[in-house]
Amino acid sequence: MFGRARSPVVRKDHSACSGCSLCLLVCPVWRQTRDPRLTPEGRAKALQHGAPARELAASVAACRLCGACEPVCPEDIDLVGMTLGLRAHLADPALVTALHGRMKEIASQPLRVLDAKIAFLPGPALREKPQVMARITALTGAVPSTDDGVDIEEALQSGIPIPRERLERFLGHLRAAQEVVVEDGQWMRPLREWLPKARLTSLGAALGNLDAVRRSLRKTDLYVIEPRAYHSDYERLVGHYDRLRTERGCAFNLDLQRIAIPPAAQADWILKGLRVERVVVERQEDAEAFVAHGAYPVVHLAELADH
Ligand code: SF4
Ligand code: SF4
Repeated sequence: MFGRARSPVVRKDHSACSGCSLCLLVCPVWRQTRDPRLTPEGRAKALQHGAPARELAASVAACRLCGACEPVCPEDIDLVGMTLGLRAHLADPALVTALHGRMKEIASQPLRVLDAKIAFLPGPALREKPQVMARITALTGAVPSTDDGVDIEEALQSGIPIPRERLERFLGHLRAAQEVVVEDGQWMRPLREWLPKARLTSLGAALGNLDAVRRSLRKTDLYVIEPRAYHSDYERLVGHYDRLRTERGCAFNLDLQRIAIPPAAQADWILKGLRVERVVVERQEDAEAFVAHGAYPVVHLAELADH
């Protein structure tokens, strides 16, 4: 038996696509390539016309899973789920076998339940920053998970089913937590299904709600929002960022698709035309492009209270 992530709301499939192109306008891949075949509309229309998954391989691989397309789709199509379903069809059997082998091995290792009311799921780049991690725990009370779930993340991004025993080990050690704070919004969608009683909070919201952090934001900061969490918790977070902008006056990467594009040109693109003195990131992974850009100091939101 396998556990699969599914959307908590009943969404439609590709057959409902009307071709309105709204998803195309917000898709970072469209913004980068101007190739309609690489967009969610392109995939939905191709499926409507009976295209087999193998013909959509390039399009499916190009998706950044940022989730920007879903909130704008007037037909409520499960666009991320559609892409993940295609990825599952296209997954290399050898890679699936290797990943499942790794998961089986991890599942066999004992792990004690995380004794914390608030659990924290950091990404790999943040785990490499113990001082920032310690700061996050000190500020929010959230205790980092001892199972990093990197293999589960890989399976989620590839649409690969997760063996039940692996999922049970991972979720079992989070079960005592009443709240789970996630650095990467990719976790929001599956965790809503897997831990329906837990409150899920993005790291940006958990830190941004603290006075010590908020009052350290300056008008001259560029605040880089983590787009996956934003798009998966849009109704709640739109008010959060609007309050932050009104209160602190800093600039935001409101054109959120841009952060979903990983090449080195990303920082140039986001910073173009902005007059800022510092870059503040919610996700450590996003810091790298701005550090490489080199024009401004880059700090994690958790470090703000010290600045
Ligand atoms: S998830 Fe992001 S990258 Fe993928 S199709 Fe939707 S908007 Fe485009
Ligand atoms: S927004 Fe929805 S209905 Fe419109 S083109 Fe995209 S997938 Fe189709």
